[in-house]
Amino acid sequence: MIVQTILVIVKKFIIKKKMFKWLLKKYYKHSPICNCGWAMKPFESWTSRYQWKCIWKSCGCEAFQSDNGKFHWFQGKKSI
Ligand SMILES: [Zn+2]
Repeated sequence: MIVQTILVIVKKFIIKKKMFKWLLKKYYKHSPICNCGWAMKPFESWTSRYQWKCIWKSCGCEAFQSDNGKFHWFQGKKSI
């Protein structure tokens, strides 16, 4: 009984983690995926065009999309 309960809790935890990544993908639907595998969140800093920043802080990758739909990647401020 106890082992079964633990297994159920572990399973729930794994599903939650999967859900979190899935939710991120859903939430940032139109966002690109960073080279490091994390989702990117939109932000506006110095222009009105679409810009994204990696949600993984220590990655610091940023991207924007130009008018022809091409993505431009660059290394933003790194916080190490
Ligand atoms: Zn990244």
